[in-house]
Amino acid sequence: MDWRDRGLCLREDPDLFFPIGNINSGQVVIQTDQAKSVCRRCPVTQQCLAWAFAVGPVEGVWGGMTEGERRAARRRAARRPAVTKTAA
Ligand code: SF4
Repeated sequence: MDWRDRGLCLREDPDLFFPIGNINSGQVVIQTDQAKSVCRRCPVTQQCLAWAFAVGPVEGVWGGMTEGERRAARRRAARRPAVTKTAA
């Protein structure tokens, strides 16, 4: 069984995960919080978030994060110094 088949969002209105409008508007904030609330209870949040990071920019709430939040996380990760292996 694919992880997507276990997502709690399958039981919700798909539009909930794709808020439309100004990200600072009250309705978008409320809708985003409701979508994240579903993700917090979802048994496949980690797989979903890993997928969203792997595919690159993708609109909507996936794995409990908005695309803006994932973009910020990508930028933070890119700024982190790379871990280098040293010869023993
Ligand atoms: S983490 Fe959220 S978007 Fe991902 S499968 Fe679960 S409910 Fe759906």
